[in-house]
Amino acid sequence: MNTVEKDQTYIAGTYNRFPVEIVSGSGSLVTDVDQKQYIDMGSGIGVTSFGIADTVWQNAVTEQMAKVQHMSNLYYTQPCADLAAILCEKTGMKKVFFSNSGAESNECAVKVARKYASEKHGTDCYTIVTLKNSFHGRTLTTLAATGQDHYHELFQPLTPGFVSVDAGDMAALKSVCQEYKVAAVLIECIQGEGGVVPVSSEFAQALQQFCREKDILLMVDEVQTGNGRTGKLYAYMHYGLTPDIVSTAKGLAGGLPLGATLLGEKVEHVLGFGDHGSTFGGNPVCCAAAISILKRLDDAFMAEVQAKSDFLFDSFQGAKGIESVSGLGLMIGLKTARPAADVVGECMKNGVLCLTAKNKVRLLPALNIPMDLLRQAVAVLLKACAE
Ligand SMILES: *Cc1c(COP(=O)(O)O)cnc(C)c1O
Repeated sequence: MNTVEKDQTYIAGTYNRFPVEIVSGSGSLVTDVDQKQYIDMGSGIGVTSFGIADTVWQNAVTEQMAKVQHMSNLYYTQPCADLAAILCEKTGMKKVFFSNSGAESNECAVKVARKYASEKHGTDCYTIVTLKNSFHGRTLTTLAATGQDHYHELFQPLTPGFVSVDAGDMAALKSVCQEYKVAAVLIECIQGEGGVVPVSSEFAQALQQFCREKDILLMVDEVQTGNGRTGKLYAYMHYGLTPDIVSTAKGLAGGLPLGATLLGEKVEHVLGFGDHGSTFGGNPVCCAAAISILKRLDDAFMAEVQAKSDFLFDSFQGAKGIESVSGLGLMIGLKTARPAADVVGECMKNGVLCLTAKNKVRLLPALNIPMDLLRQAVAVLLKACAE
């Protein structure tokens, strides 16, 4: 059996894979089993922040790997502590809980919100309001948080205590807060899986003000938007928000599994001994990888990300077959005249790997993608969209 046959025989059928087997890569170029090269405009869904097999990243990983590859959370390890300190210094948050994925980073946020609210406002204060069209993960609780019914149907009953409202609809949100005792609101500043849809800054501001008044926790899911993706370290920084809880994962460790839940002042002491835990969470190799990533996201680098973003917006806005361009930084959605899947298929034929999100083409290239590759990818995309 070849890889495709073996995969289709032995792997659970959850992924509708493209007929491409990737065997190697370097930076923003990946190579398939037939030695065909592609420009990678998806970076593993926003994970390989500095591309494939980046040297600085690799050195950080292999150095730590040779020292200690894993230690239980019964003991201290330096990469874990260093990374938490960097995250807090860069955000003003007070404490970090490490896990292994985006869903887990949201699970932790939910646990913190429930404990905070039940201790402060009573055990019946547990409802979490999320936004329609959101995506927060695949566990039964984060599915409940995900405001898209089609993810829910087959898996009832989900964790109770979640209500979703339309993004931008403060009136609906306030009315939910009258009907239920609400512990927290969880939002993505830019809905990624939902089609690269940003929330308006009026809504974000009104939401923050309302949450403060009512002592409702403001939680921001930065799993996809975080770690430099949008041109700032976290997308909430574009909106001038001060969230109580921030969850992140995807690009944090540049290609190794790491989730982080950042806790602000209000909730920094909510989790105590035994309240939460993770065997792999804070793994020293993953943390060393993340430190190497965060250290490179300085102002000069973020300016380059922004310049590449401007180039993409300029190239796509008003182009033939492109109806609208959304997103921030290097998280970009294209509403195309042709079905998004057709554009992505055409690009793949022509050596460019892109993603879709809902009915849009979604681009999440490595943050350090070289300009020449970006130009080539844009040319292929423009041609595919215009057809
Ligand atoms: C991908 C994603 C998740 C889920 O992350 P996993 O690592 O797959 O569990 C949660 N929230 C958002 C916004 C995401 O984009």
